[in-house]
Amino acid sequence: MCRHLAYLGPARPLADLMLTPEYGLLRQSYAPRDMRGGGTINADGFGVGWYPGAGPAAPVRYRVDRPLWSDQSFADIAAATETGAMLAAIRSATVGMPVVDTASAPFTDGRWLFSHNGVVTGWPSSVVALAAELPVTDLMTLDAPTDSALLWAMVRHRLRSGEEPEEAVAGVVASVAKAAPGSKLNLLLTDGTAIYATAWRHSLVTRTAPGSVTVGSEPFDDESGWTPVPEGHLVIGRPGCVDTVPITAAAKLAHPHRHNTG
Ligand code: GLN
Repeated sequence: MCRHLAYLGPARPLADLMLTPEYGLLRQSYAPRDMRGGGTINADGFGVGWYPGAGPAAPVRYRVDRPLWSDQSFADIAAATETGAMLAAIRSATVGMPVVDTASAPFTDGRWLFSHNGVVTGWPSSVVALAAELPVTDLMTLDAPTDSALLWAMVRHRLRSGEEPEEAVAGVVASVAKAAPGSKLNLLLTDGTAIYATAWRHSLVTRTAPGSVTVGSEPFDDESGWTPVPEGHLVIGRPGCVDTVPITAAAKLAHPHRHNTG
């Protein structure tokens, strides 16, 4: 399984969030501590999106198909780039899925950044009916032929249709879990002001401090303050606070959207 991380708070160098923590994404790329049997290392690519400055600018994204530990140019950029809002991911490709830049998270659209940590069981046949509800153009322009890219297209479609972000992520988890039981569906979404994340058959933790919030697959240090998210729950994180709700309750608020054109 991949690992992901999102942070909102005072501006910090990307390196402070991804590379220098004792158990940060860099260490997690070759020695993760909580993979729950889903793979061993996360060496099939990585990516990060961050919001430059405080204005309404869209995020800047960097993503590649090589291990985080092998990209010295990124390490130099990360040391020199400060941000108060970011989402990063390292990838362990599911067997049968391609290792290409565009399969690495984050996926993005406008202000949104998205990542998936997990796998859709029975891919691709289990979710053919759900995919068929998307506009054809969305299917023709998936970032990559992977489960994560399809999940992003499903979340994005709900966002574009006017659903609230927490409804969009919870609705996708609920519908995919029903169509493909046993799937691992830890989704992570941010617009730079709030973080929406699900714990569905995989690990997820949060940590708040005055003015900041961090959400990740596993703690990136042994300091106190990390709180595990209960299985089957959605967290909404904003600087200084985290709300936790059952995914089934959040999904019930959602209205199904069925469009077959586009
Ligand atoms: N199944 C997804 C992919 O291959 C995510 C992989 C993961 O979480 N390990 O891209």
